[in-house]
Amino acid sequence: MNQDTLLSIEDKVISNALKIRFYPMAVASAHGTRLMDEAGVSYLDLSAGWAVAGIGYGHPRIAHQLKKQYETISFTSQLTIPEKNMVGLAQKLIEITPGSFEKKVWFGHSGSDANDCVYKLWPLVRNRSRLVSFMGSYHGQTMGSLSLSGHPAQAKFIGHGNVVKLPYPNPYRPPFGETQALTSQVISYIENELFRTICPPEDTAGLIVEGIQSDGGLIVPPDDFLPELQKLCQRYDISLIFDEVKVGMGRTGKWFSFDHYNLAPDAVVVGKSLGAGLPISAVIARKELLDAGFGVHMFTASGNPVCSIAALENIAILEEERLIENAAENGAYFLKLLEELKQRYEWIGDVRGRGLAIGVELVEDRSSKIPAAEKTAAVCYRAFELGMLVFYVGIHSNVIEITPPLTISKQEIDLAVSILDQALKDLENNNIDMEKVRQYAGW
Ligand code: PMP
Repeated sequence: MNQDTLLSIEDKVISNALKIRFYPMAVASAHGTRLMDEAGVSYLDLSAGWAVAGIGYGHPRIAHQLKKQYETISFTSQLTIPEKNMVGLAQKLIEITPGSFEKKVWFGHSGSDANDCVYKLWPLVRNRSRLVSFMGSYHGQTMGSLSLSGHPAQAKFIGHGNVVKLPYPNPYRPPFGETQALTSQVISYIENELFRTICPPEDTAGLIVEGIQSDGGLIVPPDDFLPELQKLCQRYDISLIFDEVKVGMGRTGKWFSFDHYNLAPDAVVVGKSLGAGLPISAVIARKELLDAGFGVHMFTASGNPVCSIAALENIAILEEERLIENAAENGAYFLKLLEELKQRYEWIGDVRGRGLAIGVELVEDRSSKIPAAEKTAAVCYRAFELGMLVFYVGIHSNVIEITPPLTISKQEIDLAVSILDQALKDLENNNIDMEKVRQYAGW
C-alpha cells in the first residue's frame, strides 16, 4: 500500500491524543540504527524512537528470547515466577543500582505509570503530603506523573496541587539571571524560601529530578548541583528520586546519569529502553518505600514474563557488547563534531550533553538567545528529507535532541553531522520548504 494511503488511514482511525507525528513516514521495518519506510528509503535514526531502541532495533538475541519465553510461559498473573523472569530482573536491577541499603523493585509498563508509583506511594509511606519536582521536567501523562511534570506538554491539564515546582539550574538560561553560583542559588532558594513558606520539609515526602532534563531541552546541570541536592535531601530526610526513564540504562556512558557523581538516590525510575522496545518500566527503591501495602499499585500485566525476559536480555547485551562504553566514547566524539559545527553557525547557541544524550539549542542570535523554534523544526524536517530522523524538545521547542541507539558508529556520527550541516546550510540559503515544515509541525 502506498505511504499516503497508509497515513490517511492512520489519521482516520487513530486517536489524536496518541499522536505527535512530525514526519510523513510509514515505517516498514527497523534494524540496528536504521528505519526503512514503505517506499524503501532508509533513515539513520538519531532519536532511537524517543530513546527506546538503546541497543538498536530488532536485536536477534531479543527476538530469540521472546520466542522462547512466549512458547514456555506466555503470561502469568504472578503465579509462576521462574528465576529468569520478573524476579531475576529485579535482582539484576538491584545489582546495577548503587546504594548499600536494602532495595526492592516495582514493575509497570511506561515511564508514566512508574512515576505514578512514586506519586501515589511516597506520601502514603512517608505520611507527608507534598512532593517537589522541577520546572521543565517531563515525568509522564497519567494524572500523578503529569502532576509531577513541569513541561508545557502537560500544562493544559489540571494536575494535583500537592507538587511544588522549582527552577532547574540551566547553565545556558540561568533561572536567577546568573550562571555563576547557580547551584547555591537554587539550593538556597529551596532551603530558605520554599521550605520556610509553602513546602515545609517535615511535610515533604520526596523530590524527583532528572539528572539531565531531557524533554525540557537536554539540560545538563552544573557538576555540583546533584551532589548538593542529595545532601539537602539527606539533611531534611526527604527522599530523592531520579527519573532515569530517558537518560538511564547506559545512555550517558554509565548505567545512570547520577553515576557520574557517585550518588546513591533513594529511588530510581527506569522505562523506555529498559525493555528494548517492549513496554516495561521499573522503580528501584529503598525497600521500605515500596512496601506501602499489598496490591496498592498493581496492574494485570506488571512484570509479565515476556517483557521481563526482554529487559534481562537487553541488560546482558548492554554489558556484553560494551554499549555503555560505546555511548561514552562515541558520545564524546559526537559532541566534539557538534562543537565544531557550532563555530560555523551563529544559530547554534549551545551544544551540550553527556554520552549519547545530546542537545543542540538553536537561537535567533547568540546575544539575544531568542529561541529559534521554527528554525529548529525546519532543520529537523530537512534532515528527514536528507535521510535522518531527529526530533526537537525543550520548553521553547528549540533544542535538537540527539539520543541515537548506543550502537551508533563513528562513521554514522560523521554522516549525522554532515546531514545537520547540510540542513543548516539549506536553512541559511532559504532552501527549505517552510510550508511543509509548518504543516507537519502543526502550526
Ligand atoms: N520520564 C521521562 C524523563 C521521560 O522522558 C518520559 C517520556 N518522554 C517519561 C517519563 C514518560 O514515559 P512514557 O512515555 O513511557 O510514559
